[in-house]
Amino acid sequence: MAFEGLADRLQNTLQKIRGKGKVNEADVKEMMREVRLALLEADVNFKVVKDFVKKVSERAVGQEVLKSLTPGQQVVKVVNDELTALMGGEQSKIAVSNKPPTVIMMVGLQGAGKTTTTGKLANHLRKKQNRKPLLAAADIYRPAAIKQLETLGKQLDFPVFQMGDQVSPVKIAESAIAKAKEEHHDYVLIDTAGRLHIDETLMDELKQVKETAKPDEIFLVVDAMTGQDAVNVAESFNEALGITGVILTKLDGDTRGGAALSIKAVTGLPIKFVGLGEKMDALEAFHPDRMASRILGMGDMLTLIEKAQSSVDEDKARDLQKKMRDMSFTFDDFLDQMGQVRNLGPLDEVLGMLPGANKMKGLKNVQIDEKQIGHVEAIIRSMTLNEREQPEIINASRKRRIAKGSGRSVQEVNRLIKQFEDMKKMMKQMSGMMNGKKKKGGFK
Ligand code: GDP
Repeated sequence: MAFEGLADRLQNTLQKIRGKGKVNEADVKEMMREVRLALLEADVNFKVVKDFVKKVSERAVGQEVLKSLTPGQQVVKVVNDELTALMGGEQSKIAVSNKPPTVIMMVGLQGAGKTTTTGKLANHLRKKQNRKPLLAAADIYRPAAIKQLETLGKQLDFPVFQMGDQVSPVKIAESAIAKAKEEHHDYVLIDTAGRLHIDETLMDELKQVKETAKPDEIFLVVDAMTGQDAVNVAESFNEALGITGVILTKLDGDTRGGAALSIKAVTGLPIKFVGLGEKMDALEAFHPDRMASRILGMGDMLTLIEKAQSSVDEDKARDLQKKMRDMSFTFDDFLDQMGQVRNLGPLDEVLGMLPGANKMKGLKNVQIDEKQIGHVEAIIRSMTLNEREQPEIINASRKRRIAKGSGRSVQEVNRLIKQFEDMKKMMKQMSGMMNGKKKKGGFK
């Protein structure tokens, strides 16, 4: 999961101070020593860490904390605020030209995920903003880049404009924009060439494309897993070309988070989107406040709710919510919910957005293997209605009957019942936590 290492360390550190009724300078100093180490270990830029520690320390021993009734929680809020500010404060929106099409130039080094992200972004624009983008293949150097974009276009049902690899990228960009006007596309996404390293020829060419295409946005795609290298790449591209926003890819594999936490502070460039997987829907708008909450284990319910709204049947969701509340969740609901959760994305990612999720040890045992869903369905369908509603009546002979009926083994039946019980336990914990939070009044 993204930021796992950093999140674990920061949460453990903050846990110690959270419950304190009194916070003195020594407490803050000790906490900040650990926060500083956690950030450095996460490969955050040294100067950024220094500034961050200074700001948080000043506020944490200031009046807003001392006068508060819950100083421990107030310190956590300060860390949360400053972490949000560090990553850019407000979420920054994508430009819309008042003379369509809006032109977006995608730039970046080879392998950063530029072509993949061009497809993801087009998908995002259509899904979230009902836009009709045209993709333009202007990476004429990387073998197969044009083909890759065409394949993505076909897969997602987007038109792809290309002129082969013998025409200059400037000409391709120009023609793509003319074509977009003609066919009333509101966005043109130009996939430009990358190189393995930054060099003058690359920059010169990109500058020429920029001059001709007059893009409304130039998005730099960088690989989060390269840490401070990504920050350096962003600085160089920005100096040469003037970037309007960064898209950070492969955050799903980045347990450290150094790039995400340094880019804005070092370069002044906002992170606009993050890539969280290879699939075409694995792109999320970057919300610094939500990301800070996720890192501090305060959950990211907003993103989860947005995801749920776009992929879950609302009536069913309401129904399920009620069942979770009064604990009348059955095996039939389990089956139904598995299908819906699957639509939300990889389960560990979804769970990572729940407040305190990584503190719940039981969660690690709740695994849903996508290939197993068919087997699970067969097992549940072999249960009687009574058994689905009251799994506790399923004794050894019933297990054998269910196993036989579904063509699965008794072990599998056992495993499923165990998973179901774990899930019920998790719901109980969650509703307990939410009630607890209400009582304490939270800290926001
Ligand atoms: P380009 O050379 O910059 O155009 O890079 P590609 O778009 O071909 O991507 C390089 C590799 O990175 C491909 O295997 C992509 O599937 C993968 N990739 C891109 N974005 C992500 C992401 O957000 N997460 C993961 N895990 N892989 C990604």
